[in-house]
Amino acid sequence: MSAYVDELLAAVKAKNPAQPEFIQAVEEVAESLDVVMEKHPEYRAAKVLERIIEPERVILFRVPWVDDQSNVQVNRGFRIEMNSAIGPYKGGLRFHPSVNLGILKFLAFEQVFKNALTTLPMGGGKGGSDFDPKGKSDNEVMRFCQSFMSELQRHIGPNTDIPAGDIGVGGREIGFLFGQYKRLRNEFTGVLTGKGLNWGGSLIRPEATGYGAVYFAANMLETRKESLKGKTCLVSGSGNVAQYATEKILDMGGKVVTLSDSGGYIYDADGIDREKLAFIMDLKNVRRGRIKEYTDKYPNAVYASIDPTQDFNPLWNQKADCAFPSATQNEINEKDAQNLLNNGVYVVSEGANMPTTPEGVKLFLDKGILYGPGKAANAGGVAVSGLEMSQNSMRFSWSREEVDKKLQSIMKDIHTACVDAADRFGTPGNYVNGANIAGFIKVADAMMDQGIV
Ligand code: NDP
Repeated sequence: MSAYVDELLAAVKAKNPAQPEFIQAVEEVAESLDVVMEKHPEYRAAKVLERIIEPERVILFRVPWVDDQSNVQVNRGFRIEMNSAIGPYKGGLRFHPSVNLGILKFLAFEQVFKNALTTLPMGGGKGGSDFDPKGKSDNEVMRFCQSFMSELQRHIGPNTDIPAGDIGVGGREIGFLFGQYKRLRNEFTGVLTGKGLNWGGSLIRPEATGYGAVYFAANMLETRKESLKGKTCLVSGSGNVAQYATEKILDMGGKVVTLSDSGGYIYDADGIDREKLAFIMDLKNVRRGRIKEYTDKYPNAVYASIDPTQDFNPLWNQKADCAFPSATQNEINEKDAQNLLNNGVYVVSEGANMPTTPEGVKLFLDKGILYGPGKAANAGGVAVSGLEMSQNSMRFSWSREEVDKKLQSIMKDIHTACVDAADRFGTPGNYVNGANIAGFIKVADAMMDQGIV
């Protein structure tokens, strides 16, 4: 690495000592950009990367609410408005007890490049809270969302910052958040995406991230004249992204043998077919149960708990061709990556954000497998959010087929942009470099045009 990148990373580490995920995300991007900076001294002179690393604005606020036992609870709310060079801030809200400033900054930083890759005019942002919706009643979730939006509403708007869902924020939470925004601002506007279909949502938005990750895998396979037909796939998670990745793998003739939640995973050698997937969707989205219950209904499958202190995740130690990590960051460590390779996996398409540690990524790249990093592979969700914004502006809605066609075409364009950038800068087949470089150049050029802001 050049002295420039070394110095930049040393400064980032010194300034953000308690933010390991943010540092990890910046390191990966800076390493990819080394060669770009050498060829474009104008970016260095204008300190474009140094500016991209600093959020334009960070909002941190108190979220007090009253639980069902009349106890007062206090959570923390955040919104990171990272970069608005190519459009208004756009990115999800995460409600999970692990949420902190560093995790949201990593997600917002990744979002800037991802949104640029979609070809749509969206800047990057991310937000959320350390609130845990698990085990809360609908009324508690509603009171929390109303309190959260009572503060957030003054910072967002359809032309300023448009949040969406992420871990722990699905259709129910978006509904409560939107209701409170509308009540306080007295306006019905597309300020959030992932809305219900009968109040401004887009068809295919719930499906988009999972479908997109599978389309991206299919695009990667196509470079080797292969398809997903007959491929055995490992999927982690059992939330929004995992469910729709599973559905699209089935559509394309593949077989899914695993799903998980934070308690454990199921392995179903017969494959998770449409009926079993419908059971999971009801279990997770309606009854809000645990994946363990799958084996009560389908006793041929096995359930095993995942011990977070163990140095590998047994889900990734199964014979397969493809893996779709769709739960959370750093869920594939070096040992997991090695296990995947030993078990024959040669396609990894990341539905989750940064699910593979740097050591794991290095193994995938050294081995030359088809590895699609999250900021490219899971961009389908925000892309359809962008399409939801367009439909809201036009007060018009596209059909399911139209949105799906646009999603497929955007995923194909992202794939091509990654391949071209990787080729152009001397690392053919490296989708990590391709995604980082293509996303960065679009944002950097806009920042150069807009002066030192
Ligand atoms: P959901 O909340 O719908 O589902 C998350 C799933 O991952 C659940 O099964 C959850 O299990 C599991 N999970 C969450 N945290 C952990 C953890 N620390 N360890 C193990 N399992 C965990 O979220 P999404 O499906 O929306 O998001 C999944 C990933 O995809 C995230 O990385 C998110 O950032 C990314 N993503 C999502 C997009 C979207 O449109 N929704 C867009 C782009 C990326 P449990 O229920 O036990 O917590």
